[in-house]
Amino acid sequence: MPDFDLICIGGGPGGQKAAIQAAQLGRRVALIDDGARPGGASVHLGTVPSKTLQEISRFLHRLKKESQQGLGVYAPRRFSLGQLLARSAVVIGIEEDLAEEQLLDLGVQLFQGRGSLEGPHSVRYTGRERQETWQSEFILLATGSQPRRPPEVPFQEGFIYDSNELLAIKRMPDRLCVVGAGIIGCEYASIFAGLGTEVHLFELGDRILAQADLTISGILMDAMRLSGVQIHLNDSVTGYDKKENSIELTSTRGERLEVDQVLISKGRLGNVEALGLESVGLKATDRGVIPVDSRYRTAVPSIFAVGDVIGPPGLSSSSMVQGMYAARAMFKGEEPRFTRQSMPVAIWTIPEVAMIGPTEEELKEKGIPYGRGMATFESNTRSLMTGETRGLIKLLFSLEDRRLLSVHICSDKATELLAFGQAVLALQGTIDFFIEQIFNYPTLSGVYRSAALDALRQHPLS
Ligand SMILES: Cc1cc2nc3c(=O)[nH]c(=O)nc-3n(C[C@H](O)[C@H](O)[C@H](O)COP(=O)(O)OP(=O)(O)OC[C@H]3O[C@@H](n4cnc5c(N)ncnc54)[C@H](O)[C@@H]3O)c2cc1C
Repeated sequence: MPDFDLICIGGGPGGQKAAIQAAQLGRRVALIDDGARPGGASVHLGTVPSKTLQEISRFLHRLKKESQQGLGVYAPRRFSLGQLLARSAVVIGIEEDLAEEQLLDLGVQLFQGRGSLEGPHSVRYTGRERQETWQSEFILLATGSQPRRPPEVPFQEGFIYDSNELLAIKRMPDRLCVVGAGIIGCEYASIFAGLGTEVHLFELGDRILAQADLTISGILMDAMRLSGVQIHLNDSVTGYDKKENSIELTSTRGERLEVDQVLISKGRLGNVEALGLESVGLKATDRGVIPVDSRYRTAVPSIFAVGDVIGPPGLSSSSMVQGMYAARAMFKGEEPRFTRQSMPVAIWTIPEVAMIGPTEEELKEKGIPYGRGMATFESNTRSLMTGETRGLIKLLFSLEDRRLLSVHICSDKATELLAFGQAVLALQGTIDFFIEQIFNYPTLSGVYRSAALDALRQHPLS
C-alpha cells in the first residue's frame, strides 16, 4: 500500500483546498510546503498583505475626501510603514492559524520542506533534518509562481525590487515608480498614491490593465490620474542610475525622472525549478506553466497541477476551486462545473475593478451579437451619500435571448458588487431580471437596474 493517497507539493490556496477536499473524502493526505507556516504566496506575499494595505489606503482616501468636504475629520498626511505592516501581520497570523487548524483537524499531515518528483507515484521530501521518499496514489503540484525578474533590471535591496520584496522595504517612498501596468502594478500604484506617495506608472502598451474591458480600463485610468498617479503609456524604463538616496530613471522616450524606489511588475513565472518534472517526462513552458487538461490532470495520469503553476488567471480564488476540483477528479472522477469564462476577476485598485465573462472587444472579435447597458455611479443615490461617485457598470447580453453574458465594473466596492451579477450569470438569467425584481434602495447594486434600463431603452422588449 502507498504511504499516502495524495501528496500535495505547495501549501498555498491550491494545495490546501485539494488537501482539505481529499481529507474530507476520507483519504490520507500529506502537504509539503517550504514556508514556515501554510498559506503560500497568497497569505504571505500576495493577496492578504496587499489587500490589507488596500483597505488602509482606501480608508485614508475616504478620510481625505471627508475632510475636504468639510466634515472636520482628521486625515493623517502619512502612515508609517510600521503601522501599515503591523495590521497586515495580524491578518496574516490569523489566516495561518485558521489554515493550519483546519488541515490538522482533518488529519492532513503537514511537512515543512521541499518536495520533488521522483516518479509517477513517488515524491522526495527534503526537510531541514531528514530526507525521505514516499509513494502516493496521486500527486498534486501546487507550487505557485514568483515575480519575473527581467535580467536587464539592476535589482537592489531597498531601491529597485519586485512585488515579493516590496513587503520588506524599510522606508516608505516619497516618490515611487511602478514599471508595468498589469493587475499587480496598477494595484500597488493606486495603493501607494492613496497612502500619499507620488507615483509614476510606466506601461509599454497603449493602455493599463490590458485584460479588462476597454471602457473600464479607461475609467480606471482617469480615476487613477485624478488621485495623483502619473501614468506614462507607450513608455518604459530603460536606465536606472543609482544616486545616494534615490534613483534617476531614463525612459524609452528619453524622459528623466528621479524617484526614491522602483517596483518592477512585469509578470510572473511558475515555480517549477528543482521540481523533478523531467524525472516523469513532464515539461513546463518557458513561463514555467505546466499544461493540464480540463480536470487539472497533467500528461502523467497520477499527477495533477493547479493554481499559478498552470497559468492564468493566477488568482487565489481560482486556485482554491481548482484544488478542490482536482481532488474530486482524482477520487470521484468529477468534472469542474466552471469554465475559464465563468471565473470572476477582481482588481483592488482605487476605485476597484471587477469583471466576469467576455469583454466587449472579445464579443466583437468572435462576431457574437450582443447588446449593452451602462450606468455611472454619479446618479446612484447610495454613491451620492458616500461621495464615491466615480465609476461605471457595463452589462453585456445576448441579442438572441437577452441572457446576461458579462459584467464589468469599475467603482468603489466593485469587487463585492460583482457577486450579484455573477449569480444572475451563473443561473443563466436575462438582463430583464434586474428590472423585474425589487431590490433594496438606496444601494450600490441599484446600478444594475440603471444599466438594465439603459439596455432596455436601446433594445426594447418586443
Ligand atoms: C501582490 C499580489 C497580490 C495578489 N492579490 C490577489 C487577490 O487580491 N486576489 C486573488 O485571488 N489573488 C491575488 N493574487 C494571486 C494569488 O496570490 C495567487 O494566485 C495564489 O497565491 C496562487 O496560489 P497557489 O496555490 O497556486 O500558490 P502559492 O500561493 O504561490 O503557494 C505555493 C506554495 O508552494 C511553495 N513551494 C513552491 N515550490 C515548492 C516545493 N518544491 N516544495 C515545497 N513547497 C514549494 C511556495 O513557497 C508557496 O508556499 C495576488 C498575487 C500577488 C503577488
